[in-house]
Amino acid sequence: MARTAVVSRILPFSCVDGPGNRLVIFLQGCNFHCPGCHNPHTIGLCDHCGDCVADCPSGALTMAEGRVSWQGALCTHCDRCTDGCPRQASPKTRVMSVAEVLAELRRYGPLLSGVTVSGGEATTQLPFVVALFTLIKADPELVRLSCLLDSNGSLSLAGWQRLLPVLDGAMLDLKGWRDEVHRALTGYDRERVLASLQLLARCGKLAELRLLQVPGRTDFVDEGGRLDAGLCAFLQSLGPISIRLNGFRHHGVRGGALSWQEAGMEELQRLAKALIAKGFGPIALPALV
Ligand code: SF4
Ligand code: SF4
Repeated sequence: MARTAVVSRILPFSCVDGPGNRLVIFLQGCNFHCPGCHNPHTIGLCDHCGDCVADCPSGALTMAEGRVSWQGALCTHCDRCTDGCPRQASPKTRVMSVAEVLAELRRYGPLLSGVTVSGGEATTQLPFVVALFTLIKADPELVRLSCLLDSNGSLSLAGWQRLLPVLDGAMLDLKGWRDEVHRALTGYDRERVLASLQLLARCGKLAELRLLQVPGRTDFVDEGGRLDAGLCAFLQSLGPISIRLNGFRHHGVRGGALSWQEAGMEELQRLAKALIAKGFGPIALPALV
């Protein structure tokens, strides 16, 4: 099992990445190419081209022996390096071992309910996730922490079979219903996402389904505000599940998607109403949009 991963950042405490108070590990790298991504600098992996070094106004980046290194103490988090990176990467990632992440968990453990591995797309570094969750489950001090995954759902069924024995639950996104809409919004077809949702629901490990509403682009409801019949049948086949609605916002987005309309609360309430009318629930809405 891989004992290291490229980590974008660690958030010691979060109350929005699963139930309770959670330490969140954001892994670098994603296999989807969502034009509306709000964390585009987590998509690519740095190839140490060095282009960003001269752009740093604080001298926090240096090039040595063909590799870029970042000094956190000098960084002002101005984002110039990530904004200008041609690979949608960041020079501020670090390679962490499972042992280092376990040390962070022990440090904050008494205040935590669990750990969530997010991204990027966490399952692009699956061996690390499996190793981490396996060691948490085997550690008497950490075993009480629940192990959750935040994922785009693209993992293969064989991959899920490796992860399921040590996974307590996964939150999965669905960004479009019809295949052409899903592909336009993610760069990837929907089949694996649907198969992942079915597998997790069958195993009782689908912690949450997240529907992202992008005005004029997502196809969850028709013009009359009715839930798409195919989506409705698919959701019914999953059995009772928790659904969270997220609205597209411009925060963090780059490029053409900045011209897309943002989703307001009214639009999310319309989708919630369509879901509730078909008997789905509970439906969680953002506190503020
Ligand atoms: S972060 Fe981007 S620009 Fe900077 S060295 Fe890595 S690939 Fe090059
Ligand atoms: S975010 Fe930090 S490392 Fe990147 S350019 Fe700004 S100061 Fe330099």
